[in-house]
Amino acid sequence: MLKHLLEKNHAFWQAEAKNVRIETGLYIDGVYRDGADRHTLETVNPVSGEVIGELAIATKKDVNEAVASAKQAFKTGVWSHISPRKRMEVLFKFADLVEKNAAKLTVLESLDMGKPVTRVLTADLPEVISTIRYFAECIDKTEGAVTNTDSSAFHYILREPLGVVAAISPWNFPMMLAMWKVIPALAAGNTVVLKPAEQSPLSCLFLAELFTEAGAPDGVFNVINGPGEISGKALALHMDVAKICFTGSTEVGRLMMVYAGQSNLKKVSLECGGKSPQIILADLPDLDEAVDAAIAGIYANSGQVCSAGSRLLVERSIHSEFVKRFTEKARTAFIPGDPLDPKTTMGPLVSQSHFNTVMSYIEKGKNEGATLLFGGDKPEGFNGGAYIQPTLFDNVTSDMTIAREEIFGPVAAIIPVNDADEAIRVANDSIYGLGASVWTRDLRKAHKMVKEIEAGTVWVNCYGDGDATQPFGGYKQSGHGRDRGMGCLLSYTQTKSVWLKL
Ligand code: NAD
Repeated sequence: MLKHLLEKNHAFWQAEAKNVRIETGLYIDGVYRDGADRHTLETVNPVSGEVIGELAIATKKDVNEAVASAKQAFKTGVWSHISPRKRMEVLFKFADLVEKNAAKLTVLESLDMGKPVTRVLTADLPEVISTIRYFAECIDKTEGAVTNTDSSAFHYILREPLGVVAAISPWNFPMMLAMWKVIPALAAGNTVVLKPAEQSPLSCLFLAELFTEAGAPDGVFNVINGPGEISGKALALHMDVAKICFTGSTEVGRLMMVYAGQSNLKKVSLECGGKSPQIILADLPDLDEAVDAAIAGIYANSGQVCSAGSRLLVERSIHSEFVKRFTEKARTAFIPGDPLDPKTTMGPLVSQSHFNTVMSYIEKGKNEGATLLFGGDKPEGFNGGAYIQPTLFDNVTSDMTIAREEIFGPVAAIIPVNDADEAIRVANDSIYGLGASVWTRDLRKAHKMVKEIEAGTVWVNCYGDGDATQPFGGYKQSGHGRDRGMGCLLSYTQTKSVWLKL
């Protein structure tokens, strides 16, 4: 659907970047505005270090206004009470506008977060558009129920929206992860205040503007900017917010539950960190296919993926052949470069400070005795910008820091295992449980392992595949609640039981 843009060259994207209109205000009640205290925050291009905008910071007063606007829009019923068909029409129009404005959204995402334009066009944007269309289609398929009672009563169960939903999202897939929350919440009839990550809010601000253009009433979808501890905290503590849906680190996820407890017991759903295992067994169908999937599974998006398959649990009998082929392929699988160049497939990390964090994990890996097979530094010729080469450690053990903590960069750790049983023990030896894969030709073994692995998604003979119908979320400290799928839309509703005496 975005094919025409995939044919554009570097010069086209540079020109788009030069001319793009960048909005940095707070989008409240259908208009951009400054923050009440006029405090601002720089948003920086991670390739050049250049400041691309001074974002208005939402302090408590602005957060109150954004929530008041969403509350008013909810109470008046301009969104929640209209016919399902009407809400569907707005969402379908919104999807069309996203498609129409794909070039601008691509450039904003690329400048703000360092994501290669090719990746935005082949992964993030198609996912945003299909998410909008999928949940639009779900709207008039959502039903209540009538239960069986004796003839003295009539009992039915209504499904109603919650009210004002606060969405708090991270920087690694700025548009996509925000829309995984905002769209089902809106589809269910709620109104929304979104606080995107302060590193990369530009695409989400523009999306809110497009939602208004699609015909949504003012106040239905608001976006505020600012640091988590200021704007995010004020939003999560707000007494008029009915639910927080959060994607981000486990550490901040914990705070969301505290804020809910300290305020109005709002509902909380959390999509948090991961340390996902890719289990490569000797009886796999095709080693090259597994190697390709493992490489994409850890290095795509420069490793900044919650479900990155960062632990490679490889059966010892194929270990040396796996390492050989992985090393050969990984060296050339990604082309680092200017994210605006369509040939680039690996951009920088989101910021210099995140670069420093990832480098400190690489040092820990070396100091704790893992074998660095390749990478571990900037790619040649990339002294500026927060670039890191794909990096592979071998002979990692489960107790090492690089096997336990989420690095959120292009760093893979091979943990050799003797067999499937040991693989399951190692896979589950983690506080996280977001994703996992199993590579085997033996279907019985695969099904048995699927049941034993503690993870929200298990891929068999692939990694990272899926679509809008697939519930996505974590076991254990990777969070609770699910994005995507019909159940996700229902999680933005509550039931009302109506018992009528006849
Ligand atoms: P983060 O937790 O630092 O920030 C996430 C969001 O929370 C941001 O908008 C931030 O401003 C806000 N925030 C931070 N402190 C806050 C506070 N005290 N109160 C309220 N809001 C606050 O995460 P990040 O660095 O933006 O993203 C990376 C993390 O996100 C990784 O751990 C990654 O695994 C996780 N993640 C999870 C998923 C998933 O679906 N499970 C998807 C993507 C990213």
